[in-house]
Amino acid sequence: MVAERYDVVVAGGGPAGSAASTTLAQRGYRVALFERERFPRFHIGESLLPGLWELWASLGVTQRLDDMGFPLKQGVNFSLPKVDHDIAFRTDEFPEYFPRPYAFHVDRARFDQTLLNHARHVGVEVYEGWSVEEVHFDGSRASGFTVKADDGTTHRVAASAGTASSPGACRGANPIRRSTSWHTSRTSAGRTCRSRRKGM
Ligand SMILES: Cc1cc2nc3c(=O)[nH]c(=O)nc-3n(C[C@H](O)[C@H](O)[C@H](O)COP(=O)(O)OP(=O)(O)OC[C@H]3O[C@@H](n4cnc5c(N)ncnc54)[C@H](O)[C@@H]3O)c2cc1C
Repeated sequence: MVAERYDVVVAGGGPAGSAASTTLAQRGYRVALFERERFPRFHIGESLLPGLWELWASLGVTQRLDDMGFPLKQGVNFSLPKVDHDIAFRTDEFPEYFPRPYAFHVDRARFDQTLLNHARHVGVEVYEGWSVEEVHFDGSRASGFTVKADDGTTHRVAASAGTASSPGACRGANPIRRSTSWHTSRTSAGRTCRSRRKGM
């Protein structure tokens, strides 16, 4: 059963939502993550970058990803119009930037489910089949959220902060986009909307 109060509410259980909620839970916050679909679900965006190794390490998920058997990518090759030769970058040519000289090409359904399960494992309260419908404000501060279960029931939960893990999630909860008390920033995994609470 959904609780009445959390420290942080996260809208969306894609990589950004799972990473943000895991990080917050690891720091002792009580976090609820609402994902409107049920995983595993199809998603586009399979080709990961080698710069993500440090993030996987800080989340504590490296071993789980290693064990999944995804194909390895060792670089990238650009074929440009009007250029008669390809331009290739091999990750192992830049050891100062990448802890490992390769990245994964993932099946997003399995990858996203693994990250979401890991968030659960570190204490995030995950609600699949639930959507964030509305953000409520006390003055300029976010003070609560209306969430909807897939049986159609709605619930009001209080929280001091929230994050929406995708442009879609921001659009889905229009008050997030309109309000001056939320701002958007580009992250490695997508667009994040969050409150301006100090220290978060
Ligand atoms: C054609 C295409 C190709 C791409 N290729 C790559 C690639 O090769 N490599 C790469 O790194 N990236 C790629 N991307 C980008 C990649 O897909 C995204 O950057 C990534 O999925 C963003 O992750 P996210 O967690 O922010 O959002 P998402 O993965 O989109 O997850 C958001 C989640 O929020 C849920 N949600 C939305 N609204 C609500 C709500 N109101 N309440 C509750 N839940 C909600 C959704 O169901 C979804 O599960 C590609 C994108 C496109 C369009």
